[in-house]
Amino acid sequence: MDEAEKRIKEIEERIKKDEEGLNSLREEAGVSEDSECIFCKIVRGEVPADKIYESKNFLAFLDNNPKASGHTLIVPKQHYKDILDIPNSLASEMLDDIKKIGLNLINEGKGDGFNVAVNVGESSGQVVEHAHIHVIPRKQGDGLKAIA
Ligand code: AMP
Ligand code: ZN
Repeated sequence: MDEAEKRIKEIEERIKKDEEGLNSLREEAGVSEDSECIFCKIVRGEVPADKIYESKNFLAFLDNNPKASGHTLIVPKQHYKDILDIPNSLASEMLDDIKKIGLNLINEGKGDGFNVAVNVGESSGQVVEHAHIHVIPRKQGDGLKAIA
């Protein structure tokens, strides 16, 4: 390897390190990174949504094609394709948010209970490729079909 090749390799390694650093900063700041994704656009405030709750790493807003009044989506602020990509370190905050949203829907009288649903992959019905959790209020005899 001649001097020029060595130099190029060094520069490539520096760029890689910078990119890794930038990604971890993005993660820390909860900044999403997919410019075309509809849920990233909602997180960035570029597309309007009925936002109802925000935690450090998640945003909750109303589904615009609700299965029931109050149908809420919880999405990570960072772009992850589906829940398989969500780091386990966010699991506790995610569960906390699911509980808060669900209990709030009950307190508001939207339901007596709720379904928590997650689609992973097209075959399951996942349409938006940004991880999200459906929280759907339920009332006795509402006629909605539970998935499980
Ligand atoms: P899924 O089938 O699990 O991918 O669910 C995607 C959900 O996102 C559907 O229930 C849609 O109604 C909802 N959705 C898509 N675009 C928007 C949007 N701009 N604002 C609110 N909800 C949306
Ligand atoms: Zn996204």
